[in-house]
Amino acid sequence: MRGLSQPERLLQSFGVTSPDDIDIEAIAWEMGVKVRDGALESCEARIIGFHDRAIITVRGDGDPRRRRFSIAHELGHWQHHRGKSSICRASEIGSFGQGGAGIERQADNYAADLLMPAYLFRPLAAGHRRPSFETIDALAGAFATSRLATALRFIDLSPWPCLIVCHGPGGRRWFRRNAGIPDHWFPRDELDPESAAMDVLYGKTDRARPTIIGADAWFDRWNADRFELTEECVKGFGSDVLALLTLKDQAMLE
Ligand SMILES: [Zn+2]
Repeated sequence: MRGLSQPERLLQSFGVTSPDDIDIEAIAWEMGVKVRDGALESCEARIIGFHDRAIITVRGDGDPRRRRFSIAHELGHWQHHRGKSSICRASEIGSFGQGGAGIERQADNYAADLLMPAYLFRPLAAGHRRPSFETIDALAGAFATSRLATALRFIDLSPWPCLIVCHGPGGRRWFRRNAGIPDHWFPRDELDPESAAMDVLYGKTDRARPTIIGADAWFDRWNADRFELTEECVKGFGSDVLALLTLKDQAMLE
């Protein structure tokens, strides 16, 4: 198992032993950073620093979970990119899996470690029976984080072999798989008509129940039709659909 990341060590030094203890503004204060809400025109959050002090301004009118993540993201810039002022648009905060500039990814990773530290997230995730959006939403409630941020953390730290694939009307937008999934299981570009993701994408439902489906609906590898997997699909941002895929067949994992 990897060692503690810098934000996780910081949380432990503050004696954080449960998700409720993660008071992001108190943590910022300890780091010399004051947080204030502001009416920002073209960005979601920004940090302006001078010597060892800084001020984060964050949109105060949005979703409180999103606000927490934005503050944690700016603290990531403070930790890693000090000396530069950062002004971050909504599309740059938590834009997981879509590439993006390296420093934005680094700030997002910092935010995920700070708000969902592995030493608290792993045992809570393992307490659930199986991967599902119900599990992810329960964890999102515990950590006061968004469904998407929590889902990606869940993929990274889950004890089960699973991945999330995001599709829009134009095809696959991004995916994230955990270390339990061999690299050769690379998701298809287009949705399969048999997948319930179609119903979610075209607005017939916001959420489809977990179902078992042939692995060839999601992967076009030569032997995919020999296996089955569990898919669960929910509506994502805008017109996106998020599919949580759990591999059950041991032979797929070898
Ligand atoms: Zn940023």
